[in-house]
Amino acid sequence: MDAGTEDPGRASLRGIALHCPRDGTPLRTEAANLRCPVCGTAFPVVRGIPVLIHDERSVFAIADYAGAEAYTGAAYGRDADATGGARRQYRRLMRWLGDAPSSIRHPDGAAALDYMKALLPRPRVLVIGSGGLRIGGPGDCVVQTDVAFAPEVDAIADGHDLPFPDGAFDLVVAVAVLEHVADPQRCVAEMWRVLAPGGHVHAVTPFLQPVHMGAYDFTRFTPIGHRRLFRQFDEVAAGVAMGNGSAAAWALRGVLQSASGARWWQAAASIAGLLATPPLRLLDRWMRHGADAAGGCWFFGRRREGAPVSDRDLVQGYRQGFGIGPTALPRPDQPKPGTPAPPPPPA
Ligand SMILES: [Zn+2]
Repeated sequence: MDAGTEDPGRASLRGIALHCPRDGTPLRTEAANLRCPVCGTAFPVVRGIPVLIHDERSVFAIADYAGAEAYTGAAYGRDADATGGARRQYRRLMRWLGDAPSSIRHPDGAAALDYMKALLPRPRVLVIGSGGLRIGGPGDCVVQTDVAFAPEVDAIADGHDLPFPDGAFDLVVAVAVLEHVADPQRCVAEMWRVLAPGGHVHAVTPFLQPVHMGAYDFTRFTPIGHRRLFRQFDEVAAGVAMGNGSAAAWALRGVLQSASGARWWQAAASIAGLLATPPLRLLDRWMRHGADAAGGCWFFGRRREGAPVSDRDLVQGYRQGFGIGPTALPRPDQPKPGTPAPPPPPA
């Protein structure tokens, strides 16, 4: 954290003011905590990371993060593999099979940052659900948040009540996040609020994927459902984030595992499913009209002022047999595919 330049008591992070997630009041640094001068809530700073949770509204409680047994989240267990020897090698092999590269690429947070850098000299970026992955370099203004402690997390924050002022950012990134929130619509409204006019959002969200992270897995979106979620944004580009073969491989694993709860069967089904993953993923490249059976969707859009895109326009814009879409973001100066080319200049 750093102190604000004008008021040393005002809390900020990489130059972005920190506000109370309950009432939006600028927070003040007070001894080891941050405190809201209006509601009086003390937000602890644990291991140098402020915990900025709305205690009554979030599924997470501020108390979860205090002390040595602080919550580290369901997502990070597999990276904290402390086992050794053959077991460790086995887990590495299983992970490699599961992560065998899909033949469909899609833009990530770093690509979205590059897009914004072509528009602005130093875009202000918020990453929601960053986990241990940092985007950008030391010179970039990137604030990374998550609901669990992990390397590269700057603040603990819940996407339903973001602890930042209106218009604080130029880009919000949420990759594999919106399926894990109780109310995706409210989270997207929060993204819109913390974006400045002209700001952009980049989201990647599952469609046909089995439940992962247990109780923290609430929702899936069809391609048009995902577009509707962002109807307060104009689409710049959108596509498929996981091909049909990859989705089928993951589903196969889940189906095999559902036959029996016995531990030996769970392990055997997992191995069988993972062995089937690399060949099934090869199918991705041939299924180019596959958005209706894809594993996920991505959306990159610009904050829209005024009325949201109407449901009628969404339905009329639906493309039959919608393909996998682009695999990269356009250059900011390129017209969107499908828009008529501007008339040639007069000779
Ligand atoms: Zn407050």
